[in-house]
Amino acid sequence: MPLIDRYGRPIVNLRITLTHKCNYRCIYCHMEGEEKALEELTPEEIERIARVAVKIGISKVKLTGGEPLIREDIGEIVRRLSHINGMEEVSMTTNGSLLKEKVKELAKANLKRINVNIPSLREETYKYITNSEYSPKQIIEGVMEAKKLGINPVKVNMVILRGVNDDQIDEMITFTRKNDLILQLIELENVGIDEETYSKYHADISSIEEKIKNEAEKVIVRRDMQNRRKYILKGGGEVEIVNPYENGSFCSACTRIRLTADGKIKPCLMRNDNLIDIKNLLRNNLDEYELMKLFVKAIEGREPYWKRRVTP
Ligand code: SAM
Repeated sequence: MPLIDRYGRPIVNLRITLTHKCNYRCIYCHMEGEEKALEELTPEEIERIARVAVKIGISKVKLTGGEPLIREDIGEIVRRLSHINGMEEVSMTTNGSLLKEKVKELAKANLKRINVNIPSLREETYKYITNSEYSPKQIIEGVMEAKKLGINPVKVNMVILRGVNDDQIDEMITFTRKNDLILQLIELENVGIDEETYSKYHADISSIEEKIKNEAEKVIVRRDMQNRRKYILKGGGEVEIVNPYENGSFCSACTRIRLTADGKIKPCLMRNDNLIDIKNLLRNNLDEYELMKLFVKAIEGREPYWKRRVTP
């Protein structure tokens, strides 16, 4: 049974930042709301923490970064986590640049599902957004390989940026529909980026959602996923809308707790004033029961960040 916080939210997901290193410099990167850190946890430490998380009812882990695939030991991390008794699912969000070369190892380690960040299919736009040496074509090769190996679902993350890629949504829908991928359209969040960048690129996703709604034959509300709406389109294809600014409903359905790259329990993406540092305790042989108590304390202290609609 999962633990339930004071707002009635069951905590079933753990999002683990594996590293802050990244081979991209995306103009919108929120760094998972974390302060940059050089230190990283070892695969053994990550496994120890996840074992305790499972004991308090967490059954799903998502690995993120920085870029998680940069870690040489990523296969070992996925394998250790997915073999924990009671762990239902290990998934990952990645920029996909190293996916083609690592996906076999990941599938073998039992990675269940993956989100790949593809903000544009156009070479020029992609480079502008990611400041990387990679092209969308290379990323797509990795995506196709992941599908072939049975990783399912494969989702494409597209953060919408006003004046940059907001005119490219139709072509992304065509691409994801044709290749049996789920598209996530994500509203830019004002986390980890400066005010100027945010106001320059932020687009209200609700007008985009209205258009998608008109093309949909069915809508499914994912209460287990921050009330995210999934639209099944008339001509085939699935689009999910990720809108964090939505009238508090995003936070009200949040079932997630975080572990930072340098070993802190972080109850909320948006806040850094309630972290619990467990790395040093872990390294000083903190026993499982003590660790469990710290998780419980973090969960007890959870507060919804968005209590009303926030307009920029
Ligand atoms: N490097 C990996 C990647 O590119 O997916 C993992 C880290 S990245 C921080 C995780 C995801 O956060 C990205 O795929 C992107 O969709 C989302 N993201 C990053 N910055 C964001 C922002 N300012 N607003 C909304 N979503 C953001």
